[in-house]
Amino acid sequence: MTVPVRRLAALGVLAAVTAGCGTGQDSAPDPDRPSAPASPRASADARPPTLAPGPEGLAPVFKSGKRDGGKTVALTFDADMTADQGPRAAKGERFDNPELIATLRRLKVPSTVFMTGRWAEEYPDQARAIDADPLFEVANHSYSHYAFTSHCYGLPTIAPEKMRADVERAFRAFEKVGVENAMPYFRFPGGCYDRSALRNVAQAGVTAVQWDVVSGDAFATDADAVAEEVLRGVRPGSVVVLHCTRSAAPTTERVVRKVVPELRERGYRFVRVSELIRAQGAEEAPGRPSGGSAAAPSRTP
Ligand SMILES: [Zn+2]
Repeated sequence: MTVPVRRLAALGVLAAVTAGCGTGQDSAPDPDRPSAPASPRASADARPPTLAPGPEGLAPVFKSGKRDGGKTVALTFDADMTADQGPRAAKGERFDNPELIATLRRLKVPSTVFMTGRWAEEYPDQARAIDADPLFEVANHSYSHYAFTSHCYGLPTIAPEKMRADVERAFRAFEKVGVENAMPYFRFPGGCYDRSALRNVAQAGVTAVQWDVVSGDAFATDADAVAEEVLRGVRPGSVVVLHCTRSAAPTTERVVRKVVPELRERGYRFVRVSELIRAQGAEEAPGRPSGGSAAAPSRTP
């Protein structure tokens, strides 16, 4: 397939950000260690599934689910917002995408929304409604989308000693607006991380969640091309990165309307990230006492 020129031309910072730039350092789980600490938001009887901590205290990194666990796929939507976009929002620029959320509801697509704390502050009613809807789960995408490595597509960088606080600040912002069920999952802005970043965010008790399918929806204008990219990339267990930020990703709602029926036609079932992690965690640490019902997600579709 030829990538339309206008899509290439549209590759701005956010588009580059979605291209991903993980170091590829997979942190192998250590079965001898206890399971990851529960998020302070998780009640004791409904603990969200997490992966075992990586070696040397690094946060575990989840990129995709089991390839042989059936045709499941997780659509994830990053609700980006930076600290300096407040004035732009005040002038009418929309960093939210209520039409997208409505379409996901209409099509009954379980999804995971990686929300910045800044987004939750800007759109508290939407943040609360997404959280309250059992179709969705809210996870953490930092407070205001600073990069966690020094070179990440031109994003401003957060100092290592402030990384943990930034993740926790986002969780606090969620709580402040009434988001009560945020999952202990963290998506690095731009997908950029290194050992230092993994060590620092581990202190916040999170599992880092990357992806294996880049939709390329940021700044795209051709919904068909984005949909094609998703359909070409999805395999069983895939995690697809998309955006819930209308001004930066205007085609996403149309993309969802195209890919959801097609993937269902191909036999895929949509799941939230927690379901993929639960399946993976159970496989990687079969002897862990936290398996079974204790590791069940707090909510079902
Ligand atoms: Zn982002």
